[in-house]
Amino acid sequence: MSRAYNFCAGPATLPETVLKQAREEMLDWRGTGMSVMEMSHRSDEFLEIAETAEKDFRELAGVPDDYAVLFMQGGASSQFATVPLNLLGDCPTADYVNTGIWSTKGIAEASRYCNVNVVASSASSGFTTVPDPSGWQTSDDAAYLHYTPNETIGGLEFDFVPETGDTPLVADMSSTILSRPLDVSKFGLIYAGAQKNIGPSGLVVVAIRKDLLGKARPETPTMMNYQVMADNGSMYNTPATYSWYLAGLVFKWLKEQGGVAAMGEINRRKAAKLYDFIDGNDFYANPIEPRFRSWMNVPFTLADDALNQDFLAGAEARSLLNLKGHRSVGGMRASIYNAMPEAGVDALIDYMTEFARERG
Ligand SMILES: *Cc1c(COP(=O)(O)O)cnc(C)c1O
Repeated sequence: MSRAYNFCAGPATLPETVLKQAREEMLDWRGTGMSVMEMSHRSDEFLEIAETAEKDFRELAGVPDDYAVLFMQGGASSQFATVPLNLLGDCPTADYVNTGIWSTKGIAEASRYCNVNVVASSASSGFTTVPDPSGWQTSDDAAYLHYTPNETIGGLEFDFVPETGDTPLVADMSSTILSRPLDVSKFGLIYAGAQKNIGPSGLVVVAIRKDLLGKARPETPTMMNYQVMADNGSMYNTPATYSWYLAGLVFKWLKEQGGVAAMGEINRRKAAKLYDFIDGNDFYANPIEPRFRSWMNVPFTLADDALNQDFLAGAEARSLLNLKGHRSVGGMRASIYNAMPEAGVDALIDYMTEFARERG
């Protein structure tokens, strides 16, 4: 069996050593005679797995003590509703920045619960840039400001953290969490669907400043109530135990790589290599303003769309998988999260070089 380089945007490639460890431990976790999948979530064994994963995540992401870390379910999309239900309190308004498809989905969902004030949008540019914060039309009374630091589909990434004064800053970090150092104290709440940089889909990791707990609207479903989740160690019901365990293995792996500072350097290098190649080759193009190019998701087009199918077929023949761009934008997209080795990026560039030479 040989492993392909999988450039899927999500669910995304996982570190091979993590998958091997999961395989080793699959039938008998450390002499317990059972799989983690079969364990009671109330058992000492699972509690240790859960607590260690939380501790490692806190250490890696630098989550301060006055934040609760929650392991919830329903993916990042369920947070689009969970956030307003919990943070609005009596406030009728929330501020949102629109930089792409995920922001747009978050705005649509929040609009069911409050007045959404879109403080800025880069839609008119085709979401190829981040609107300059000096022009953002923020409201005086917003319960929070929500933005998407990395737009996974467009490949657009903020290179700064917005300043919002006393207004809590909320970020959908699904595709950028743990990719580099982060100052969590600047945020009221961050959330991340796991299937890009953390583990299996379905799980969503939340870090929330504790003073923002306890404000959920009465109609908030219990399972979506951050206070209830915090009070119950994310085990109000049966949590996604196996996903939580796998996330813990990924956190351990990240620590062995040197943590997010080391990952950040590798990620910067991987992305720079690929963008430099694209910019230096007439056959390929990336539309994003260079300053805001994503380190994690690199969309690119070929000089002739009629060659897309051949490009993908040739890539697949070389075990370079899932390079097709999102259906809404077309072209190609290479997602190069933490678990994509630099050798995968090198192999992609070799293939792109050859394809452009033969077909360009
Ligand atoms: C993938 C993604 C989502 C959706 O995640 P689900 O777990 O499928 O709900 C939301 N926001 C961003 C930025 C994403 O990359």
